[in-house]
This record gives sequence, C-alpha cells and structure tokens, in this order.
Amino acid sequence: MSGADETPVLIVGGGPVGLALAADLGRRGIDCTLVEQSDGTIYHPRANTVNSRTMEFCRRWGIAEEVRQAGTPPDFPLDIVFCTGLAGYLLARVERPTYGGHKPLPTTPERSQRCNQLFFDPIMRKLAASFPSVRLRYRCRFESFTETADGVQCQIHDLANQRRETIKARFLVACCAGRSSVPQALGVRWEGQPVLSYHLNVFLKIKELWNRHDKGKTAFYFFVDEAGLGPSLIELDGNELWRFGLSTGQKLIAPEEVNFPALIEKFMGPDIPYELISILPWTCRSVVADTWQRGNVFLAGDAVHQHSPSGGFGMNTGLGDAVDIAWKLAATMAGWAGPALLESYEIERKPVARRIVREATEGQAPLADAATLAHVRAPGVEGDRARRAIGDEILRERTKVFVSDGLVLGYRYEPSPVIMPDGTPPPAESVSRYTPTARPGSRAPHAWLGQGRSTLDLFGDDFVLLAFDGAAGDASAILAAARSRRVPLKLVAIDDPAIAKLYERRLVLVRPDGHVSWRADAPPDDPLRLVDRVRGAIH
Ligand SMILES: Cc1cc2nc3c(=O)[nH]c(=O)nc-3n(C[C@H](O)[C@H](O)[C@H](O)COP(=O)(O)OP(=O)(O)OC[C@H]3O[C@@H](n4cnc5c(N)ncnc54)[C@H](O)[C@@H]3O)c2cc1C
Repeated sequence: MSGADETPVLIVGGGPVGLALAADLGRRGIDCTLVEQSDGTIYHPRANTVNSRTMEFCRRWGIAEEVRQAGTPPDFPLDIVFCTGLAGYLLARVERPTYGGHKPLPTTPERSQRCNQLFFDPIMRKLAASFPSVRLRYRCRFESFTETADGVQCQIHDLANQRRETIKARFLVACCAGRSSVPQALGVRWEGQPVLSYHLNVFLKIKELWNRHDKGKTAFYFFVDEAGLGPSLIELDGNELWRFGLSTGQKLIAPEEVNFPALIEKFMGPDIPYELISILPWTCRSVVADTWQRGNVFLAGDAVHQHSPSGGFGMNTGLGDAVDIAWKLAATMAGWAGPALLESYEIERKPVARRIVREATEGQAPLADAATLAHVRAPGVEGDRARRAIGDEILRERTKVFVSDGLVLGYRYEPSPVIMPDGTPPPAESVSRYTPTARPGSRAPHAWLGQGRSTLDLFGDDFVLLAFDGAAGDASAILAAARSRRVPLKLVAIDDPAIAKLYERRLVLVRPDGHVSWRADAPPDDPLRLVDRVRGAIH
C-alpha cells in the first residue's frame, strides 16, 4: 500500500503510547500514519515515572540518555514523605535509595527515571518523526471506521484545513485513551470501577521549595489530615515545577469552587511564593477493557486500561502494549507470522494490565480509622500516638507500589499461544521483589556482557537464539527451521558461566521484544514445530 490515503497501519492518538508504537514500527521500517487531534503540545504534567522497563525500551530506541537528561537530575532524592504538611508533622518516610543515582543495578541496565510527559512526549515525538516510514499528522481527528475485506476504511477530519478524508489501512491501532469512537465501535465493555474518585491536578511553579520547610528535599510529599490521605505534591523538574494533586472524592468539583490559596497554606505553609500555571480535572478509574482487538483493529494504552497514578504504572504499561504489538504487526506484514501471533497480543497483555490495575487500586484504600485520624494534627501525647499508628500503617500497607520491581521487570506472558512453557514453576509473585528468570514468557534477564553492553542489547530486532556452554553447535536444526519459515533468527554464543547459570538452559530463544519464547538443554525433536509455535502458526 502507498499514497496519501493508504497506509499499512493507522495509529489513532499521539500520546506516549501511539508515539511509541509509531517509533517501534518505524525502527522496523514499517510504513504507518499517526493521527492526533491536538497540535501535540503538552500543556499539563501527567506521568512522571519512566520505569526501568520503559527505560530499557528507550535504550533500545537510542533515547535513554536524552530521557535521563530531560527529567529530574539523578542526584535528586526520591524518598517518599508522608506528613500533615510541609510545616506540620512527619508521619513516615519511604526510603528508595536505589531509585536515584548512577550506581549500576544488578537486575537492569537502566534505572527508573523521573521524566514528566512534559519532556518525555516531545522526545518520543522526535524519535517517531525521525523514521522516514512514519507520518505524524497533528490536528487530524479520527472520526469513524468501517471494516473491509482487507482492513479498515477510516474517516479523518483534517482540522487545520477543514477537510474530511478517507484513509484505508490494513491495521488500525487506537491509542486514543478511550475517548474516540473505536472502543465504542468494538463494543468494548470495561471490567472494574469506572469512577473511583474525582481529582484536580494543579500545575505550580515554586522555586526551591525545599529551602522553605524541614521535611527534607525529595520528589514526593503525601499529605494526611483528619479526612485521611489527602493531596500530594510531586516534583517535576528538580527545580521549580510541581504538581499538587487534590482528590474531591465522589464529588465532581470545578476548579473555580476550590480555594487553592487556603489549601496551599494548609499543606505547604504560609507565605509560599507560588505561581499557578494550570489546572487539569481528571477521573480516577480502575478498569480494564474486555476487548483489545477485533479483526484488524487493536486498542492499546489508556484505551484499554486506566487506573490510579499510584506507583506510576499507566504510561509504562501502555508502552509495554506498544512494544508487544509492534513486532507482531511487523512480522505479519513481513509475511512470516501465523494468525496466532496477532491474536496473542490481547492474551499476553490483558493479564499484565489486570495485575497492574489491581495493585494500583489497592493503594487507594482509605487510610487508618477515623478515631486515629481525628488526632493526626493534635499536639501532645495523643497526637503522637495517632501519628505513630498512622506512620506504621503507611510503612506496612502503602509502600509496595513505590518499589515495584517485581511488577515492572517480573511480568510474564503466561498463558500465551506463542510461548513454549518448560514446565518449571514461576518465581513467587511479588510487587516489590524481582527474581530474575529466563523461564519462557519472562523478560530475558539482564547481565553485563562487558564494555557497558547488556544481554538486553542483543534483543529488539530479530529472534535471538542464545547458546551457552558450547551449545552453538546444537543450534543448526533450529536455524534451518527458522530459515525455512523466513523467521529472522540470529545465533549468539555466550561463553560466560555466570550468565549461563542465570539463563539455566543451554539454548534460549528470545523474541524481538526481549521475552523468552522457549528454552532447553538440547534442540527439540521437531524444530519446525517450535518455529511454527513461536511465529503463531499453531493454534
Ligand atoms: C495525574 C496523573 C498522573 C499520572 N502519573 C503517571 C505516572 O507517574 N506514570 C505513568 O506511567 N502514568 C501516569 N499517568 C497515566 C498516564 O498519563 C497515561 O497512562 C498515559 O498518558 C496514557 O498514554 P496514551 O498514549 O494511552 O493516552 P494519552 O496520553 O491520553 O493520549 C491519547 C491521545 O489520543 C488523542 N486522541 C483522542 N481521540 C482522538 C481522535 N478521535 N483523533 C485523534 N486523536 C485522538 C488525544 O488527543 C491524546 O493526545 C498519570 C495520569 C494522570 C492523570
């Protein structure tokens, strides 16, 4: 397909997920067109956390350093402070020493970063635009689509030129956060709670706020008062930009109804010189779509999962969707994928999203009992007792989503029609603790290869067959099977006993997205069957 009104892949939505999909397709040389209704300017801060897994994708895309430079400086403290106010009582401090700094970590080559969408989305936009096969069309609204025998026919409104157009595409991927007609047309139903609470997000400028209180310089302050866990104050650029988050509970309240100066005085103290930049009302949900794909139409990102920002998972999970579907679309267009490969997208990603939504929602449960909370700001012994109880509860119940390596690196694709299980039990599930494993379905684990290269740097383009312990000679039948099915596969022999031990088997097959498809100590009896399974030709 070619020409202005035809594209192999039409992406709706130029948020981080649509841009990541466009970039990953562009990297693979796949033609695609992205339509975004706005002009792409980010006016208001949303996601801050670019977690380690997303940073690993950024490393693959060659933008990790740019992301590191754009966000909060690496030496900025990332502990989480719970207090009654910056001028009030300290309740708890969650220490997160490994989340900042430069020291290499054993489990990932890329430390989680804080880079707000104010800075992150433009980097993604520049990356996507750098590929000649990617066309980004801003001020273009997607209106509707009809399914045809060989794809979809989409109605687009070019807002800049006030012109309506038709674009024919083989595949349509809606990354439009549930606000376009695609989810409705697919009859998507949301599992979960459509409204947990209403919120106002206040974008503020306050220079070096940390010099104006005694709670210490850090990126996160959560405030508690007699009503429970209240507003939060989140640092955005390591200097002067902050996001003050306020829940209005079950009541939808307009920004004009809120007395912000009084709130700022209550939680930050008197005489804080602030500039209010903008206010964004948003709704906290806890939902996963029941349908992620139908025929040649797919949904990704906030269009299929929405939850509380607790733990900072939303954008990161959406980028995981984009990475999962990009290579599958590319393989299908290259002609070597079977039908189960695209079908595996929803099967693999939906359970990951369900788990993230569950964990992010748990962090929303009310804090402490009303009788204890009543004394949280009281002076004296009774107040001290209440604050100790609340602080203990916070440390016991509220910290796990703040250290979430188990979720971020330990997610796995199971079940999946394109993964060959090896019968070994999975590591114990944990939100915070990540247990490296090369068990099929898992993210192939990181180990340093020397000279700053990680095992993860081997993955991202073709399938890779890792051979340990002299197993390269046993790989020829698998390589021949892949060749006969036109599946791009590269053999990499690694002569390092520590990495061999980490991967546990002599032969490990890793997919283009860096997840393990299969592993064993010897080649399978039927290598063609293995190749057919991982390329989605066996249901
Ligand atoms: C207060 C807050 C804090 C958050 N903090 C974090 C965090 O720390 N970490 C994290 O990972 N996530 C966080 N999130 C969530 C994160 O912002 C979203 O998950 C992320 O932006 C989703 O990306 P997306 O590309 O799916 O959707 P969006 O970013 O919403 O982008 C969708 C795009 O589609 C466009 N669009 C919609 N309809 C059409 C149409 N018909 N035609 C053309 N274009 C269309 C929209 O204009 C929009 O640009 C937070 C969210 C909020 C509200």
